[in-house]
Amino acid sequence: MNTMLLPASEENTALAARLLAEGQIVAIPTETVYGIAGSAFDGDAVKKIFAAKGRPQDNPLIVHVDSLERMEQVVAEITPRARKLAEAFWPGPLSMILPRGPKIADEVCAGLNTVAVRMPSDPVARRLVELSGLPFAAPSANRSGSPSPTTAQDVWADMEGRLPLILDGGSCQVGVESTVVSIAGEQPVLLRPGYITKEQLEAALGEEVLLAPSITAQLKEGEVAASPGMKYKHYAPKANVTILQGSFEAFRAYVEGEKEKGVFCLCFEGEESALPVPCVTYGREGHPDEQAHDLFRALRELDERGARQVFARCPEQDGVALAVYNRLLRAAGFQVIQVAEV
Ligand code: AMP
Ligand code: MG
Repeated sequence: MNTMLLPASEENTALAARLLAEGQIVAIPTETVYGIAGSAFDGDAVKKIFAAKGRPQDNPLIVHVDSLERMEQVVAEITPRARKLAEAFWPGPLSMILPRGPKIADEVCAGLNTVAVRMPSDPVARRLVELSGLPFAAPSANRSGSPSPTTAQDVWADMEGRLPLILDGGSCQVGVESTVVSIAGEQPVLLRPGYITKEQLEAALGEEVLLAPSITAQLKEGEVAASPGMKYKHYAPKANVTILQGSFEAFRAYVEGEKEKGVFCLCFEGEESALPVPCVTYGREGHPDEQAHDLFRALRELDERGARQVFARCPEQDGVALAVYNRLLRAAGFQVIQVAEV
């Protein structure tokens, strides 16, 4: 299949909308990461998304809407909690999980009786829904397992020949996938951390939000994930990544001992001049917004530069940084070493 890479103009967004209406899939920018969109009402289109990504069949997709009226076609009911969250965070990088509506293709929900829904702030993503009249299901536009794409060129590297159209909207503003919160059960549960934090959700809902244990812990063999996506090794470059937890001094000392082995560092901006090996940076220490924005590009750059073993500086684990830590932990296959202070 020939793949077109076109700027995300109104004209090209209209072309994407026509392709969606015909049951095709298209790659598009959103404020979080690039996505592969297909009509959420069309099971065959959704199957094409899974095939293009090589995504496991049991990992459900997020449905994107442009209004609460459109959301009514997606969920069983817009509950009071859903209204509060929409009011506080939409359009924006928050996905909520609710009991599904009857029109949604079974393939979207991967056998669950719930559906994830979000209203993106990216104008191209919303325009696509408006022009096609279709809510679209969309996962990240990477091959399953590899780092999510935050530029159209990264989508091209993974998806060329696998779908007809990639819309180029530049570099994604947030850089990590949406926060996923389940409001389908008795208590709200944060299933995937993102740019909207647990504290912000609690303030908007006026009640406690539980943290799914799978955010920072590896599931045991046979354990069931509340969010199926959380059980896979994910976001990983080809290089072997190890997170080194500890101060910068301890990190530097550890890398010093490994430098003969051709290793790379994934470090914070400004640290590279003090390290004895090639470095790729991901934002400044203490600036999780920058880290989120840069992380996936940095992981891809490590592969482009031929890195085989990477030692990564550890982000914080609260607020927006929890999202960065959660992604990096999976990219590292949960390999974390506590380095001795010097
Ligand atoms: P991605 O498509 O890469 O943004 O991943 C979507 C995430 O949302 C995955 O972790 C899914 O497992 C999760 N998700 C989507 N729908 C549901 C649902 N109905 N229940 C629980 N998790 C869901
Ligand atoms: Mg993904």
